[in-house]
Amino acid sequence: MEIVVATHNQGKLSEIKHIFKDLPITILSLKDLGISIDTVEDQISFEGNAIKKAMETMKLTNKITLADDSGLEVEALGGQPGIYSARFAGPNANDEQNNIKLLKMLENTPIKKRKAQFRCCMALVYPSGKIITTNGICHGKIGFKPVGNNGFGYDPLFIVDGLEKTFAELPDGQKNLISHRAIALKELRNVLFEELKS
Ligand code: IMP
Repeated sequence: MEIVVATHNQGKLSEIKHIFKDLPITILSLKDLGISIDTVEDQISFEGNAIKKAMETMKLTNKITLADDSGLEVEALGGQPGIYSARFAGPNANDEQNNIKLLKMLENTPIKKRKAQFRCCMALVYPSGKIITTNGICHGKIGFKPVGNNGFGYDPLFIVDGLEKTFAELPDGQKNLISHRAIALKELRNVLFEELKS
């Protein structure tokens, strides 16, 4: 089975290759296929955006295509920034600006009320029209200041439940074992494992 991964992010690509390494699946990147595509993420859910990304690439390649969409949901903010995680502080906002905005919005929120979760949706779209989606959630809370130098996005603010460290304090290898993306990918791997057996 060949799967095209609709991402330009090399980190995500190697995470996906790692999870599927013992299945008879060849992972193809957009780079391998010489495709440059940037899907507009204008859907109202992570699932909608993931399916849209996978569908647009599948239509170009006519091959089974995988895409994901993820973000941070903060309980005290009614689930914000959610699908707007990448552009929380504005259309061209960088990670630091997004983190500053989040800290500002939670300025007077005590630790007990700073619960948050990262959510990831994976969508696998087949040329036949079949769609498989899986979800992964990683629970934690938002700290009062950035801690740690690894990772990206909101990692320095996200304190992982059970570890009491931010994602940015963990080495990439450890984060990739427990992240929302890893959870969604492992579930997808199980679905594909069963499918490949039949
Ligand atoms: P994407 O859909 O995976 O590209 O993620 C959208 C945005 O969500 C990113 O730009 C980050 O702001 C945030 N995000 C998603 N996953 C993570 C993560 O693992 N750590 C930190 N931020 C993340």
